[in-house]
Amino acid sequence: MIAACYCAVQGLAQPPTTQLNPMVKKIVEEVSEERIGATMKRLGEFGTRYVGSEQDNPAHGIGGASNWISGQFKSYSPRLEVSFQKFSVPKSQRTPKDLDLVNVVAVLPGTIDKDRYVIVSGHYDSIALRRTPNAAVRTDDAGPASAADADPLAPGVADDASGTAATMELARVMSQYTFDKSIVFVTFAAEEIGLNGSRAFAAKAKEDKMQIEGVLNNDIIGSDVSGNGMSANNHVRVFSEGPEDSGSRSLARYTKEIAERYMPSMTVDLIFRHDRFGRGGDHTSFVAQGFSAVRLTTPSENFANQHTATDTFANASVPYTTRVAKVNAAVLATLALAPKPPVVAVNRPAGGGGGARGAGAAAGGGRAGDTPAADAAANVGTPPVQGGGGARGAGAGAGGGRAGDTASAGTASAGTPPAAGAQGRGAGADAGGARAGDTAAAGDTASAGTPPAAGAQGGGGMRGAGAGAGGGRAGDMAATGAQGGTGAQAGQGGRGGGGRGGRGGPPGPGLSRGKGYDAVARWTMPSPEPDLAGYSILIRDTTAPLWQREIYVGNVTEYTMPDTSIDDVVIGVRAIDKDGNPSLVSAYTMATTRLVEAAPPATQPPPANGSARGGGQ
Ligand SMILES: [Zn+2]
Repeated sequence: MIAACYCAVQGLAQPPTTQLNPMVKKIVEEVSEERIGATMKRLGEFGTRYVGSEQDNPAHGIGGASNWISGQFKSYSPRLEVSFQKFSVPKSQRTPKDLDLVNVVAVLPGTIDKDRYVIVSGHYDSIALRRTPNAAVRTDDAGPASAADADPLAPGVADDASGTAATMELARVMSQYTFDKSIVFVTFAAEEIGLNGSRAFAAKAKEDKMQIEGVLNNDIIGSDVSGNGMSANNHVRVFSEGPEDSGSRSLARYTKEIAERYMPSMTVDLIFRHDRFGRGGDHTSFVAQGFSAVRLTTPSENFANQHTATDTFANASVPYTTRVAKVNAAVLATLALAPKPPVVAVNRPAGGGGGARGAGAAAGGGRAGDTPAADAAANVGTPPVQGGGGARGAGAGAGGGRAGDTASAGTASAGTPPAAGAQGRGAGADAGGARAGDTAAAGDTASAGTPPAAGAQGGGGMRGAGAGAGGGRAGDMAATGAQGGTGAQAGQGGRGGGGRGGRGGPPGPGLSRGKGYDAVARWTMPSPEPDLAGYSILIRDTTAPLWQREIYVGNVTEYTMPDTSIDDVVIGVRAIDKDGNPSLVSAYTMATTRLVEAAPPATQPPPANGSARGGGQ
């Protein structure tokens, strides 16, 4: 009797996330080395898939390759929605002429959350470049091999028939199953000349407010011996852009955890950088638009073969590509089955100063432009601290040092009567204020709200072309899903006085000290999935790269850890479904302290992340 009770309690305490899902296991097993090898070989046989190569020859050049890939996708399952996404590339140093190109896209619609997407990708274009003899590293920015030879042999098997073959094989296997979320299998073109295909895709996704949970981009997963003879063919590198709890980092940690669970022979090496030095890939296009994306790539690159006629099938490793494809399969399938991640808030730094700045969704007084994710949920909130300034600029801003002013973008309607510290400034829509209360509705979707915080006082003006929700108090949920404004005002600094956040009101989805020395985590889950089982709390040291502890807490939206300092550890939460599939982890983060009114840089600002070099590999 006692034993039974003990087991029941233990059953609850045991996180269900470590169990293997038989369906995921089966998918991983069904990924076929033979099929992947055949696809890599076939893609190499097009001779070249350079963007400037033949468009209308079924046997040679990029046009034949794109049609072949499309036909393969269609042959896998009638449930795959296969299309070409067209885009153009104007003539430039890297292309001999204006080009009309296509990404080849196959979508497997989800059954529960059809409008949430997970993406796996590779690029099917290839390139052969002029090389400096005996160069230790590639020096291949000089364009095609020679002007006289505009269509040189570029079999591009490791780079990136391997990633393309993995993407296609996952489409073949996974289209025999159903998933909660929609899965996009996409092979991009024009990666090698500047990520053009993925940029077109990511820009459209942003424009369409597509909810993308993560992108697994596979580029150069086809070689397993480096030019120096070293090999680490049971490892795969996963590159991810920071900061440490960015969406891409969360996806990278998830990749390691899930991949190593289903593929224990493989080790995922997380590299906390967006990519290798001086190099880029299609994941970068997504990160630049605010989406979470990582790059999977071999630790054993052979620089001598890359972007040359010797990047052949004979020089590739099909077994290695297959292992990496299985890594992808485990992660993609689990993520597509799992619930969406819970919503948590960003904690503002104490005594925050300036305002939000820039495009995107900004949350929190005194914080600048964080979470510039598409459809970012800008959550103000959690323990009231010394509030900060106002938000200014395009985008959805939630700034200010007080609670829920009416901030009506575009119409410049300020909220309730300003009290101490209010300093809305500037032209455009200013909504400053220093009073508690009022539900704010701004623009199309931004809304701040919740009942007045007793004693809220603060300042902060809001200015900008976006939807703004002022606020600076505990627990406001501001601007969920808010979309930025016109962008015309992007980059303007915020102005507005600081203020003091109020106290009281219902708690928001944040992290707080509870009775003083406890850690109290709260989260929300809009429209929970029908198969949701509960949540886990994740904990790690602030210096630790990976989560160190997991506590399954059941189906609740608040959890208290007694005598735990919220200042000393990173805390996150994730949702878990009844089959044990975990969502991505949402971490409680602290906003970065930043000076918003800093002078513009004296020199030319660096290009946006990802387009710095323009070339991909
Ligand atoms: Zn590549």
